[in-house]
Amino acid sequence: MSQLLSPMGPKNDIVGHIFDIQAYSVHDGPGCRTLVFLRGCPLRCEWCANPEGLEIRNRNLYRVTKCINRKYGCERCIEACPHQAITVCPDGEIPLNIDWSKCQKCTTLECTKVCLVEAMIPCGRDITVAELMRILNRDRHFWAGNGGVTFSGGEPMVQKEFLLAALKACQEVYIHTAIETSGHLPTETYLEVMKHVDFAFNDVKHMDPVKHKAKTGVSNELILKNIAALANSNWPGRLVLRSPVIEDFNDTEENMLAIADFMHKIGLTEFNLLPFHRLGDSKWKQCGMEYPYSFYEATPPEIMEKLQKILLGQGINCYIGSETPF
Ligand code: SF4
Ligand code: SF4
Repeated sequence: MSQLLSPMGPKNDIVGHIFDIQAYSVHDGPGCRTLVFLRGCPLRCEWCANPEGLEIRNRNLYRVTKCINRKYGCERCIEACPHQAITVCPDGEIPLNIDWSKCQKCTTLECTKVCLVEAMIPCGRDITVAELMRILNRDRHFWAGNGGVTFSGGEPMVQKEFLLAALKACQEVYIHTAIETSGHLPTETYLEVMKHVDFAFNDVKHMDPVKHKAKTGVSNELILKNIAALANSNWPGRLVLRSPVIEDFNDTEENMLAIADFMHKIGLTEFNLLPFHRLGDSKWKQCGMEYPYSFYEATPPEIMEKLQKILLGQGINCYIGSETPF
């Protein structure tokens, strides 16, 4: 066992619910990083790129293009499901009809255990802090000088106990820690977690609380309060605010000026504008959900540059896409 592993203890037995771990990320904090995606999110952004991580429970995904029901008459998942949630759909594009309301209450995911072609797959797994640390200590050999771990989601702070234990274990063995957060958590939780974070991206999706609520399900008041509290604390880390650019929602001069005004008041200087993309489209289908943004185009470069110019004009260091300097 590596000497860099944290000492074993009760905190290392804490279980987290994750839906992915990705190595070799170079856009989610300094250097080369390992991304850990935690399940569960208090927001419901209509453009979400990771809808499979919205709920904290492990779930099933149905990948239509891999399903061989039509080709070979396979009905293995139908037979395995104890809740009769799946039926054959002889007409239409999709071979199986799934009653997702039944799947929502299912804990055993029997259907995913019998599919031979990974058309019905489990999404999410449980992991202990000790297991995660073994993965990170393995990956650290590929990070080079300034890499580390980035916790993303979902909203990683939803699993506060696991996240705090993992962050502390990372700090014990000198692993650089980063987080991608919505900031929509009780202020106490937010500030406590941030004490163990070296770098943070915090989303500010709209400055108007009513518009924010209309598209994300929650007001921005708590988010702005938390960001201000962090900025006014003695936190030694680096905070970059950011937002996806969503057409007909937050892509206005008025919103950019309000962001700049907010940042000036609390002494923050860095903002990252992310172009909208439709990469989440297929995942919404796999979750059995309709994607409200399936007909929206990727944000044109000229819109990105126009919004960037507004923020730059207000003295904010504004970066587009993956251009945030680390
Ligand atoms: S997740 Fe559960 S309820 Fe849904 S199809 Fe699979 S076994 Fe049936
Ligand atoms: S078991 Fe897999 S391949 Fe067979 S019908 Fe179900 S999803 Fe399709």
